[in-house]
Amino acid sequence: MDIRIGHGYDVHRLDVQGAGGGRPMVLGGVEIECDFGPISHSDGDAVLHAVTDAILSAIGEPDIGQLFPDTNPDHEGEDSKVFLLEALERASAGGWAIGNVDITVICDEPKLGPHKEQICDSLRTLIGAPLNIKGKTHEGRDLIRAIEVHALALVQRSTQSS
Ligand code: MG
Repeated sequence: MDIRIGHGYDVHRLDVQGAGGGRPMVLGGVEIECDFGPISHSDGDAVLHAVTDAILSAIGEPDIGQLFPDTNPDHEGEDSKVFLLEALERASAGGWAIGNVDITVICDEPKLGPHKEQICDSLRTLIGAPLNIKGKTHEGRDLIRAIEVHALALVQRSTQSS
């Protein structure tokens, strides 16, 4: 069995939705009620961006910024599930199965707790593998309002397919 691990990281500044330029807050494909939202080219789903990069990194493919540059107008406001599904397709094409995914979300607002289960359900449906997600805060150091996400993905394939 060939086993590899990949790490993904994403950060988005947050601002007031609408007037401040913030988009609706979407995490792991789940829209969350919040006064603030990400400043982003796509829908700004930092969880999906970090998970996508973790999977792409584990299987040795180009990163999300290379595959979907934010200078491409086609991806303006794009649903980030498109990026994750591309990573999953590349994994599948290479014979890789996703072992598990571990995610840490760091932001002061919104609180992750009330939304954790819904986000986990959404991600499990998309990825089809065990995953865990945990929330941390910036401990009041959040001078610039932002959301950060770290993700690890373990992938595996039988050595016959390499
Ligand atoms: Mg991003």
